[in-house]
Amino acid sequence: MALIALTDISKTYREPGGAALDVLRGVSLEIEAGEAVAVVGPSGCGKSTLLNVLGTLDTPDSGRYVLDGEEVSECGPERLAALRGEKIGFIFQLHHLMPQCTALENVLLPTLALARRPDPVRVRQRAVELLEAVGLGGRADGKPAELSGGERQRVAVVRALINEPRLILADEPTGALDERNAEALTGLLLDLCRSSGATLVMVTHHPAQAARMDRTLRLHEGRLVQG
Ligand code: ADP
Ligand code: MG
Repeated sequence: MALIALTDISKTYREPGGAALDVLRGVSLEIEAGEAVAVVGPSGCGKSTLLNVLGTLDTPDSGRYVLDGEEVSECGPERLAALRGEKIGFIFQLHHLMPQCTALENVLLPTLALARRPDPVRVRQRAVELLEAVGLGGRADGKPAELSGGERQRVAVVRALINEPRLILADEPTGALDERNAEALTGLLLDLCRSSGATLVMVTHHPAQAARMDRTLRLHEGRLVQG
């Protein structure tokens, strides 16, 4: 069974007094557990909206979304919040780290939202190991302002992975990085997802990075297109 199954998902934004904007128009797709998938397409074609629907941050107007066997459209807000905490890790273009917290504290934040709190000693150990795995072993006590752009984004990757999610959603995670850091971050993400069995869905503008994924989904004006 696919980890993600979308059937005929549509989303329209209505601006007050303005025209309706059909952002997703009947999107159907399946993504298997463990796949790494790129989402590409011109600016405004609906990539972020699709990712937000997958992350249950946005609700489609119609269509069906089944995540890991669970009917997402039938979940109430509490279940959705729990589902996000347990199953999904998010990485955005900007790191969204808490400025007053250290790298290690930022990584541990998502564990505080879990209904079943992990053993604090073990989860801290896991966080330290993950920070070491992304080359930040010596920076765990650094605040975001003391880290470089590439380092901050690596902390965001570790934060997304800390709860051992089945799904990582990354919306242009390398968009603010130079080419060398962008390439390294994509490599890290792929390695960490493959070794943990997590599924990766990543929006990117860079064909070279999309080519490193198992396959590419191409959006055009709210529809999936071939090639
Ligand atoms: P992409 O990520 O591919 O650039 P988005 O999914 O962010 O595209 O947006 C698709 C379209 O929907 C854009 O025209 C954008 O302006 C519009 N849009 C996105 N979010 C909203 C919103 N909350 N309200 C109104 N329009 C929105
Ligand atoms: Mg976007």
